[in-house]
Amino acid sequence: MKRIGILTSGGDAPGMNAAIRSVTRTAIYNGMEVIGFRRGYEGLLEGDVIPLSVSSVGGIVHRGGTILRTARCERFTKPEGVREGLQRLKEYDIDALVVIGGDGSFHGAYELHKLGFPVVGIPGTIDNDIAGTDCTIGFDTACNTALQCIEKLRDTASSHERLFLVEVMGRNAGFLALEAAVAAGAEYAMVPEVPFDLDLLCKKLRYAKERGKSHSLIIVAEGVMPASELQSLLKDTGGYDARITVLGHIQRGGSPSSFDAVLASRLGAGAIDALIRGEFGTMVGRINGEIVASPIQVSWEQKKKLDTGMMELVEILGI
Ligand code: ATP
Repeated sequence: MKRIGILTSGGDAPGMNAAIRSVTRTAIYNGMEVIGFRRGYEGLLEGDVIPLSVSSVGGIVHRGGTILRTARCERFTKPEGVREGLQRLKEYDIDALVVIGGDGSFHGAYELHKLGFPVVGIPGTIDNDIAGTDCTIGFDTACNTALQCIEKLRDTASSHERLFLVEVMGRNAGFLALEAAVAAGAEYAMVPEVPFDLDLLCKKLRYAKERGKSHSLIIVAEGVMPASELQSLLKDTGGYDARITVLGHIQRGGSPSSFDAVLASRLGAGAIDALIRGEFGTMVGRINGEIVASPIQVSWEQKKKLDTGMMELVEILGI
């Protein structure tokens, strides 16, 4: 294994740069060369390459986003696109590819693996919706970013005695919404995994008002419904006048937390170790504190379960 390729794909996540740095330096430490492909599979198909050295990945460990940029590439989802990608990897004399991204990006890596090309995936997404790792790179930072914003909203909510609805990211997974709800002491969390009960929510809000609570915070994952829709529902059903805040892309940005920078550094090194051991077609994850390589299909074949105990905790603590 002499020459490694690396790309970031799908949505960006804080800590991706720390992972790029770790992959690059661990590979160089082990006598390999590293080539970066810019803009995910799009850059692979177009031959948009940049050689990575010890110094070119210096000073990025704390930077949000990804220096390799990222993209979603429709062409690569077709068999001809994958074959073209394989051709490109051969032209650049690449022996193995490290893919940093979510399960969509891992599907792409798996297609290359099925054609016999060595790949390893590193889970990077703020959604944390990937089995095979307790945490994905970027999740912790996104939770902290959401928490900081919600804390600020709580100040104004309590001063004006208002009901605030905060929409956080999470199309299919409620990990971020639930974590932020518990950390911020929200009264209610709405996640895609649990059916939403409007009556129960209205009952809770009535009860809170009766016992003199001055304000309430509801965290809603974008996949359940837009906060604006919930605002209308609450107005029509219980006459509630709620304010909404959509956190949006702010949750993806910023310097990685210490947790994410360490996770990314460990997974980056773990990816190179997996390649050296010949564990191709895998993803590296952190499970119970250990760095473990699992078959990459685990990321979509197994569904990571939301901790229902945490949902109960929001219920109990938000009375
Ligand atoms: P996030 O969780 O942040 O959305 P992701 O990696 O899941 O990240 P996707 O948009 O699902 O993001 O996938 C990123 C890219 O991976 C796609 O644009 C496409 O190029 C590639 N990809 C996705 N699915 C496949 C597939 N079945 N075959 C080949 N490539 C795929």
